[in-house]
Amino acid sequence: MFCPKCGKQIQEGSQFCEYCGTRVSPIEELKPSRRKRRKWLSSLLILIIAVVLASSALAYLYFFPRVNPEKSKEYENQGLATLSQLAAQNGIMDQEKLKEVSNDFQRAIRLDPDNLSARKNLIYTYLLSDDLSEAQKEIGEILKVNPNDDFALKMQELLGEETP
Ligand SMILES: [Zn+2]
Repeated sequence: MFCPKCGKQIQEGSQFCEYCGTRVSPIEELKPSRRKRRKWLSSLLILIIAVVLASSALAYLYFFPRVNPEKSKEYENQGLATLSQLAAQNGIMDQEKLKEVSNDFQRAIRLDPDNLSARKNLIYTYLLSDDLSEAQKEIGEILKVNPNDDFALKMQELLGEETP
């Protein structure tokens, strides 16, 4: 090691410089703990960055999933299967199950916003759940994709909503 004042080489671990008498050891002792703290801080920073990146990637995937028409159809069919099961059991007003069904249709729409039949099935489900405002919102979404969609226009008329 070297004396921080006079720069001469001195014995490793000595407390004072043997040439100028400057106290050297406390500085040498401080360095490792400071380095340790810095290392700890940078690991923490890396961890925070990793968590932020991972959660924003998940959020991105949730809000902007890659369009996947096949997977979209799968969820739509799953919802339809539950619906027909409910119809067969006369349980079409089972709100809990209807919530499940509308979640399936919503997933289908997230995976493929152009899946208009999933949007229509979602509207039926909202109507079965007596959720008119959600149904109207979804009709608006269909009309955004296709302003001349017969189904949406008829539904809008039925629900007494004036064309915006
Ligand atoms: Zn010295």
